[in-house]
Amino acid sequence: MDADLQTTLNAAIRTIPDYPKPGILFRDVTTLMGNPRAFRRAVDELVQPFAGARITKVAGIEARGFILGGAIAHQLSAGFVPIRKKGKLPHEAVSIAYSLEYGLDEMEIHKDAVEKGERVVLVDDLIATGGTAMAATALLRQLGAEVVAACFIIDLPDLGGAAKLNDIGVPVRRLLAFPGH
Ligand code: AMP
Repeated sequence: MDADLQTTLNAAIRTIPDYPKPGILFRDVTTLMGNPRAFRRAVDELVQPFAGARITKVAGIEARGFILGGAIAHQLSAGFVPIRKKGKLPHEAVSIAYSLEYGLDEMEIHKDAVEKGERVVLVDDLIATGGTAMAATALLRQLGAEVVAACFIIDLPDLGGAAKLNDIGVPVRRLLAFPGH
């Protein structure tokens, strides 16, 4: 990625200190999504390696992953599949528990959202510890999907999530890396 694009994307992300709790630097991508040039360029850059990669579905993680994932799916002429917090999907779903910093949460996907052997790209705005993306990968694999890659605007490499995904065979595409958490 060229330095000019990196500068554009960096400048479009708002950082909010001590949100949602002291010590966290919250990376707010709503400003990037609201910026016509930055949003288009981020989506174009994320999809670039997957044009022609026969991706049939893009799976987005609630909620910011829906916005990015929808745009990426359109660009790849793929379908879009939501991975949601427990209890929000209307049809039969499979669920997985995963750990957050404090306690457990659960996410779900419709049982018929992907078919065995489908080539899927997973999308979220940011990867930190990787707990969320690892759980989403497990759900997709449980349905028989091949998780071709996971895409994020931001990686917090010090928290090790991208390395964990790589270790289980999911290549990570990210546009920016921020130190710390
Ligand atoms: P993790 O499961 O630790 O990789 O956390 C990733 C999820 O939490 C993503 O859905 C992010 O949107 C959110 N998240 C974690 N840390 C931050 C942060 N510093 N700023 C904004 N979102 C974050």
